[in-house]
Amino acid sequence: MLKKSFFGLSRSQIEYELLPARLPEPDRVAPSKKVTLFHTRNGNQNAPAALQVGDKVKTGQKISLFADDPAYVTSSVTGTISSISPYSGDFGKTYNAIAINIDESEVLDDQFKKQVQRPDLAGIIDYLSFLPGNPQLSVLSDPETKIHTIVIMGTDSDLLIGTNQAIVQSRLDAVQKGIGILRDVTGIEKIILITAGESMQGYGHIGAQVKNIDTAYPAALPHMIMKNVLGEVVPAGKTCTDMGVCFLTAEATAAIGNAFSDQQIPVRKILTLVTKDGKQRLIETAIGTPIRDILDTYGVSINEEDRIIFGGPMAGSAVYSLDHPVMPDTDGMVVIDRSDAAYSSDYPCINCGDCVRVCPTQIQVHMLVRFLEAGQYEEAADSYDLYSCIECGLCSFVCVSKIPIFQYIRLAKYELERAAASEAMDTMETTEETEPTEGAEATDA
Ligand code: SF4
Ligand code: SF4
Repeated sequence: MLKKSFFGLSRSQIEYELLPARLPEPDRVAPSKKVTLFHTRNGNQNAPAALQVGDKVKTGQKISLFADDPAYVTSSVTGTISSISPYSGDFGKTYNAIAINIDESEVLDDQFKKQVQRPDLAGIIDYLSFLPGNPQLSVLSDPETKIHTIVIMGTDSDLLIGTNQAIVQSRLDAVQKGIGILRDVTGIEKIILITAGESMQGYGHIGAQVKNIDTAYPAALPHMIMKNVLGEVVPAGKTCTDMGVCFLTAEATAAIGNAFSDQQIPVRKILTLVTKDGKQRLIETAIGTPIRDILDTYGVSINEEDRIIFGGPMAGSAVYSLDHPVMPDTDGMVVIDRSDAAYSSDYPCINCGDCVRVCPTQIQVHMLVRFLEAGQYEEAADSYDLYSCIECGLCSFVCVSKIPIFQYIRLAKYELERAAASEAMDTMETTEETEPTEGAEATDA
């Protein structure tokens, strides 16, 4: 397996852009006719349906597809379910896409207010897991993860995106309230707020340690924060959660605070829109709003071969439909004109070594890419530290041959994960077949 753990780095030349101290309030963009919510397909699909086309839903209502399904989404509008259909996302991720036609008048759901009058962890997980910022709250109650530190991201991990930086600047009271709630319900004392540059000095009263990080990309990626702020190296193949550290965004933390201040589940998401001319705007819109509605608001036309990226320019993912909705974790949307888009090519590697020099984990990327191109993923993991990759995208960015290294890496990790899951499933089935049942034992006896 893996030989090398994540280790030191040289400072990259690419800098995060810090937002000005005073920002205008985000533009409000309302969805025009409908929203679409992606429900993770991990419930018991054979259980009785809990939701059907034609059902009415209220704003802030928790909705599941199957009875007793722990997975849920929160309706961001008041309206009528118009369709429920399977949807395949990146790398085979599957969802049920729940489309809701919006009613003219809004009705706020009161289940959260009735059921979770005082903050407690079970209630927070049960009602606030679909908040803007997509907090992974269930890890806080998982006895296997043993979380001892919560890191609040008051900065954004990709370039050009300023969503969480703006939240810290403009909604500090809500962030502070969210931090207090998280401390009370988890008992975790070590809570750290991450900011970029010098922007947060003097905010020690918010109930968390405040740590400024370097402005050189990729300093705001969780693995880099683990190393540079917490002094812990995440071993290859492990996650920050495995190390007992839970990362939450400032937006999610503020949303937890607001949920209890307002007695209403927040359903609107802040995101940074970067248009073809490079202009950045902060937008507030309902989760599930089709991106077409946002682009139409600003008169942005999408032509053939233009690109729309969710996330950011370095590590984001392309979106191919204007009907694609804003997700709870869509912190940024970047529109790139075809003339500015970075194209990949089938030129061979020329061994220039740029990817190796830029890689923060010092992977021999030029060797790794040979195995990835050949589809030899296990060898790539065993011999060339695939799992040491922290997915910063710098190697693809600098590659003179325009090899889509980063995309190869993501695909390889996905394929290996899929193979491991299928192997585990086969083993489970074989074990079940070979183990005698209680009834069979009784008969034999
Ligand atoms: S994406 Fe590329 S540069 Fe970044 S850590 Fe992975 S291999 Fe290294
Ligand atoms: S940057 Fe591209 S061309 Fe240069 S060594 Fe790396 S993979 Fe090869």
